[in-house]
Amino acid sequence: MRYDTRRTLLFTSIGVMAAALAFVWLVLSGGAVGDPLVAVALGGGLGLLVAAVAATAIAARFRARALAIADVGRRYALGDLSRPGPDYGDDELGLAARALDAAAHEQERRIVTLARDRARMQAILASMVEGVLAVDHSGRLQIVNEAARRMLRLDGDAVGRPYVEALRHPGIVEHIGRLLAGGSPETLEFSTSRDVPRDLVARVAPVAGTGRGVTVVLHDVTDLRRTDQIRRDFVANVSHELRTPLTAIRGYADALVDDSDDAESRQRFLAIIQRHATRMERLVKDLLRLALLDAGKEALDCAVVDVPALVAGVVDDLGPAAAARRVRFDVAVSPATRGVRIDAAKAHDILRNLVDNAIAYTREDDIVQVRGAIEHGALHLVVRDHGPGIPPEDLGRVFERFYRVDKSRGRPGGTGLGLAIVRHLAEVHGGTVAVTNEPDGGARFDVRLPFDGGDAAPGA
Ligand code: ADP
Repeated sequence: MRYDTRRTLLFTSIGVMAAALAFVWLVLSGGAVGDPLVAVALGGGLGLLVAAVAATAIAARFRARALAIADVGRRYALGDLSRPGPDYGDDELGLAARALDAAAHEQERRIVTLARDRARMQAILASMVEGVLAVDHSGRLQIVNEAARRMLRLDGDAVGRPYVEALRHPGIVEHIGRLLAGGSPETLEFSTSRDVPRDLVARVAPVAGTGRGVTVVLHDVTDLRRTDQIRRDFVANVSHELRTPLTAIRGYADALVDDSDDAESRQRFLAIIQRHATRMERLVKDLLRLALLDAGKEALDCAVVDVPALVAGVVDDLGPAAAARRVRFDVAVSPATRGVRIDAAKAHDILRNLVDNAIAYTREDDIVQVRGAIEHGALHLVVRDHGPGIPPEDLGRVFERFYRVDKSRGRPGGTGLGLAIVRHLAEVHGGTVAVTNEPDGGARFDVRLPFDGGDAAPGA
């Protein structure tokens, strides 16, 4: 029993006692009110008056407290749990109000936890590379993360819409429909049709545990497939490139074994075998070099280099090849390139590959130009020839492994790996290589190799 009940009983008892006392007093006073009935009525009336006044006072106070509690309840309903509630008192009403207050605060705590969990989930979904979609049991999209939006090109208002309307890919729509109808998880692979098509793998499964609704997880496997294709092409190319000289070596070796009497033929066969063996050796050497570059095992080894001397060395080395085609050199290397800090071996190999190609592809009896200068903190080397140049559609591909513009135009002994190695070497150097066609014919290769302290180097 708490205060208000006690107080009500107390005041009722006081009223009854007051009535009894009034009655006794009236009877004992003996004269003032002679009739006992009147005394009883007066005593009772007085008692009732006292009880009524006391009850009204208690009810008014009770009502004011109930209204204050109702106000707090309304404030809570509007979500404002920040201010503390009033002093609820220690009676039953206070107890009930405090219990509701505690329940409201507990709910608020849960809402805050839920909101935090939701924000965390949104952050995780937003940072995922995989696309995620969730469809509820009624077929509406509940969750669409940024990656899914991008992969499937969904509108900004996709959430809340029926998946059959929002998703344009018939394969996924069909799979989700099957899952919602109770089917089992499935995986499907498809390509998106757009300017740059992407290969996607979608895993469609029921929402774990609940069995209501469906989740779709999308993986973009374009790069994986491309790498796989490149690897397969590479293996096929290597096999093909090795098979050609091997078949020749095998054929001429057999011929030697079968018919070893004719000294002249034997000599010719041996020369052919030697040429093909050399080609194979070069191919294997280039392949190993590329493998090393791919694995990042060719570190940069910079030293002060005399670039004019380096260019002269390359031109000298290739003199016999140039002479064989009556090709002359036009070399102009700025003296400012003396003493730049670069990787001499890499710069040499880059230049040798480009000049070697220029000699091979330029017209006979013509000129190959080599230029060297310092430009914007980098060594700038140019090799240009006067050959057929490179068709515009192939310009972007000549640095790919085994890419040849025209198989029949590939120079004898070429591996199709030279320019791929050049690009790798330039990149290890933090530089670039680019190819263009000159307006008056011929290809031009521009190599830029940044070097230590290059920013301070004078222009040339
Ligand atoms: P290759 O050993 O066949 O020369 P590269 O990787 O050096 O291999 O060159 C790839 C292809 O680029 C060549 O097969 C050729 O089609 C083309 N190419 C390279 N240099 C030139 C050039 N100076 N002029 C015309 N085409 C060239």
